[in-house]
Amino acid sequence: MWRIKKSLLLDAINSAQRYMPTEFICFLGGDRKKEYVEEIVFLPSNTSETSASIDEYSMPIDDTIIGSLHSHPFSTNHPSRQDKKFFSKYPLNLVLGYPYSIESIGFYDQKGEKVIVLLE
Ligand SMILES: [Zn+2]
Repeated sequence: MWRIKKSLLLDAINSAQRYMPTEFICFLGGDRKKEYVEEIVFLPSNTSETSASIDEYSMPIDDTIIGSLHSHPFSTNHPSRQDKKFFSKYPLNLVLGYPYSIESIGFYDQKGEKVIVLLE
C-alpha cells in the first residue's frame, strides 16, 4: 500500500490554491518498491482552466518519479478519460477535486482504479 505524508499533500493543496482558477499539476517523487512518496516535484507546465499538460521533454528521465497530482478547480476528483490515459504512465495518481482539501483528493492507480493510500 502506498504511503504519503499529509504535509506533502498540504503543500500541494497550497500550491493548487495559488493557481486557482487554473488547473494545477505536479509530480510525486519516491520509491516504487517501498511504495512510498517522498516529495512533490514541480515542473514547468502549461495550464489552462480546463486542462493541464506537461511538456514531455521537460520530464526528467527518472525512476524516482512515481506519480502525478493535478487539480480540478471546478469539479470532483473523478478522473476524465484523458486523465486515465495520462495515469497509465505512473503507478500512483492523485486528483484534487473542488473544494481543495485532503478529503477531496482521489487516489488512483495506473488503470484509473481507486486505491487506498496511507496518510502519515
Ligand atoms: Zn483531470
